[in-house]
Amino acid sequence: MTAPLFPSLAAPTDDTAVRFGDRTLTYRELAHIAGGIAARLRDCRRVAVWATPTLETALGAVGALLAGVPAVPINPKIGERELAHIVSDSTPDAVLAAPGDDLPGELANLPRIDLPGESSTSDRPAEPDAEAPALIVYTSGTTGAPKGVVLPRRAIASTLDALEDAWQWTSADTVVHGLPLFHVHGLILGILGPLRRGGTAWHLGKFSLDALTDALAGGGTMMFGVPTMYHRIAEEVGSRPALAEALRAARLLVSGSAALPVHDQERIFSATGQRVVERYGMTETLMNTSVRADGERKPGTVGLPLGGVELRIVDESGTPIETWDGETVGEVQVRGTNLFTEYLNRPDATAEAFAADDAGGDRWFRTGDMAVRDGDGYVKIVGRKGTDIIKSGGYKIGAGEIENALLEHPGVAEAAVTGEPDDDLGERIVAWVVPAGERPGDAELVDHVARLLTPHKRPRVVRFLDALPRNDMGKIMKRSLHA
Ligand code: ATP
Ligand code: MG
Repeated sequence: MTAPLFPSLAAPTDDTAVRFGDRTLTYRELAHIAGGIAARLRDCRRVAVWATPTLETALGAVGALLAGVPAVPINPKIGERELAHIVSDSTPDAVLAAPGDDLPGELANLPRIDLPGESSTSDRPAEPDAEAPALIVYTSGTTGAPKGVVLPRRAIASTLDALEDAWQWTSADTVVHGLPLFHVHGLILGILGPLRRGGTAWHLGKFSLDALTDALAGGGTMMFGVPTMYHRIAEEVGSRPALAEALRAARLLVSGSAALPVHDQERIFSATGQRVVERYGMTETLMNTSVRADGERKPGTVGLPLGGVELRIVDESGTPIETWDGETVGEVQVRGTNLFTEYLNRPDATAEAFAADDAGGDRWFRTGDMAVRDGDGYVKIVGRKGTDIIKSGGYKIGAGEIENALLEHPGVAEAAVTGEPDDDLGERIVAWVVPAGERPGDAELVDHVARLLTPHKRPRVVRFLDALPRNDMGKIMKRSLHA
């Protein structure tokens, strides 16, 4: 028999399981309601979940997991074309949604199951197989069309248990966040994580600094956020004493989904004494590395490989780089129990994503992320293989380092660095800058980078924008910058 994904739902208590704004459910209530949803899903093969940031979505996801019906969370702000792609790719035979929700396009034609609907006291379905698909989560689409990632329960359990160890995460923790529920970060870490631990998930509905302050002051012990949220905190924590106090008292602040600028990390530290812990993961691999709660915090790094994760950094020929000098850049490859099974309907992409193991062991997943390791083994993500490594004048230059340097300039609010073709240099470094207040001069920014880093890392072109193109996770969509 497979061990339950949520032991606390098998023997439920009156402890608080989830909280959305003022709506709370105990484990006993959650087990009853989600059990009812699971019973109604019995005849489904695969189900879409209209993933608004609400209690209904959490119930729908847990119900589907209890039923063993693979669930496909859908971004409620999704555009027509992406929705058509996801529905035709994943072929759900029903959709779970709250009664008041209007469903667009192809979703409106599917049989609809209202959330939460009638609860029933029907028998709990048997725990599904550990390798059976539990969730099909589409990637963020940062680098191309989103791919459906098939995640078995084994991967979910494995990643959450590795985080339990790294973050000393217990049933006494209340995780506060305002993350979207159609990606790994908000749904798996932010909702399923606390439920697996037997603690509390406190979702803010919509993220705001006021709501965050209240939740942390009202019992929250951990915060999960994306870098854009920590950026807002960094900007305002100096003038919000209650927020500073609430953050200071929190047990652990965690950032992920994209790189956390060192400048924001430092500003939060000086206002609160807290060092945000960064973790690195992907839809395909769930979590790979994290700074540990009990380990040294090194800003700008994503910490050490998590339990159960094997990680290596390889050069262009695929040979592992054994020198951990903090300088030698290569691609991150991982393997372990945290990995997905396959890309849905994409055997080609699945095969391409893995590198053979010369020693005949399990294949390695190519993350497409470039990184270095320092002498202690801490991983530092330099950027993505294609877009973030600029080959200029015979050098390979990581965009992230230049972005961090630009952000340290008082005239820069946001920055993204890309490469574009150049006759002399191969590629030239382009800085896309959202000014903070009055626009700084191009030469001033170029000199600033040359002074902080080295002259060959200075941007050759500076372009000013009102805002950077970002997706729902706050990730910068670099492919839209040159469009
Ligand atoms: P797509 O695969 O569709 O292009 P995506 O890669 O952005 O989109 P996700 O699976 O949501 O989709 O994101 C995983 C990626 O996010 C990682 O490969 C990495 O590039 C980035 N990432 C996640 N956490 C961090 C972090 N702490 N620091 C830097 N990058 C991170
Ligand atoms: Mg990706």
